[in-house]
Amino acid sequence: MHASLWREVWIIFWITLASLLIGLASGRYFIAAAIGFGFYIVVQLRHLNSLYRWLLSRGSAEVPDAEGLWGDVFAEIRKLMKQAEQREDALAGMAQRFQNAASAMPDAVVILTEHDEIEWANRNAARWLGVRYPRDAGMRLGNLLRDPEFSRYLTRGDFTEPLEMPSPANAENTVSIQIIPFGARQKLVLGRDVTHLHRLEQMRRTFVANVSHELRTPITVLAGFIETLSDLPAIQQDDLRRYLATMQDQSLRMQRLVDDLLTLSRLETAPPHRREDAVAIPALLAGLLEQAEILSGEAHHRLTLDAQPKLKLLGSGEELHSAFSNLIINAIRYTPAGGEIRLRWWMEDDQARFSVTDTGEGIAPEHIPHLTERFYRVDTARSRASGGTGLGLSIVKHVLARHDAQLQIESDPGHGSKFTCVFPAARVLREPAITID
Ligand code: ADP
Repeated sequence: MHASLWREVWIIFWITLASLLIGLASGRYFIAAAIGFGFYIVVQLRHLNSLYRWLLSRGSAEVPDAEGLWGDVFAEIRKLMKQAEQREDALAGMAQRFQNAASAMPDAVVILTEHDEIEWANRNAARWLGVRYPRDAGMRLGNLLRDPEFSRYLTRGDFTEPLEMPSPANAENTVSIQIIPFGARQKLVLGRDVTHLHRLEQMRRTFVANVSHELRTPITVLAGFIETLSDLPAIQQDDLRRYLATMQDQSLRMQRLVDDLLTLSRLETAPPHRREDAVAIPALLAGLLEQAEILSGEAHHRLTLDAQPKLKLLGSGEELHSAFSNLIINAIRYTPAGGEIRLRWWMEDDQARFSVTDTGEGIAPEHIPHLTERFYRVDTARSRASGGTGLGLSIVKHVLARHDAQLQIESDPGHGSKFTCVFPAARVLREPAITID
């Protein structure tokens, strides 16, 4: 048996014995026993009363102290209290850690009560949803966001798909809102900034629309001529030649467009070069100059090349050929007959530079930042008429990015333009050709 219980049994035993002895001596057994046990009961009631008073204090007062069995009961209560306190501390710590993690999240996090009132929100809730905690605590989220689409989404109760809408904090951003019901009809609202994805999606749509538009004209022209030709009972040789020349023009235009699109898609999807060649740029430019003279043809541009011999570049010969030829072809396209086109390859400020300078029509300053965007043209009709696809400078930009290089565009409208590719020193080789894996 428990030691304190033994002690109580002994006390009762001694009270009984003492009552018997006193009773024996005085002959008043009952009074002796009543005094002894009365005293015992008073002591017990006192302890019981202090326990009751402590319980009434809801644990805010000190647990009472006592000897014996009551002392053990109070000690056990104290132990239970301590364990509960430790558990509460651990839970509070965990809740705090969760709150810290939710606060540090880049997304907006809002906890709603069953009546859709704001119970808690993290810091980024202000940034993406315009919900400030604790200022907005207790407010209904529907009243705060005031977007009819969001109100419908919140009341519909089907949260399988997220809702995309302009950010209530900044209409230029797009947020994706996901609601997750939990617990007793509470809700967790997550708001994520998807502006970048939204813009990419818009760019993709514009791109597809542009490509379709570019291809539609030549296809329509070709289909029209084929239909005309097949309907004609007889045709003059001259007419036939004219028709065929136009058809060839249109099919070449489609071919150029498809070639440029394939080049762009290869550049975009290809992994970084695993093998870098030492590309002999002076030889590459000499070849391009010959092609440029043929292309210039009747226009008789004055073409010159000034290349620093033995100045080589680490990279992909094929890609550099494509980028440089695009710049040269543009110079021929946008420079009137007899104009001057200078190609230069040299070292300056520890960087290798390739420039194409022309005395053409030039470009107004407001167009310059957009020139490398796909299908951006200063004059669409002029570009198409000269065989442009609107993709040349996008290809140049991608090739240069894959060579850690930059494109600089300077232009004086009416007098000419200068396109310069600037390569970092790390890509420059001045020795005879070597191959590096
Ligand atoms: P395009 O196939 O139309 O030439 P690019 O991407 O190569 O497409 O060039 C985009 C636009 O930049 C051209 O349509 C033209 O308006 C302008 N541009 C490019 N190079 C020159 C240049 N050397 N002189 C004047 N304008 C140029």
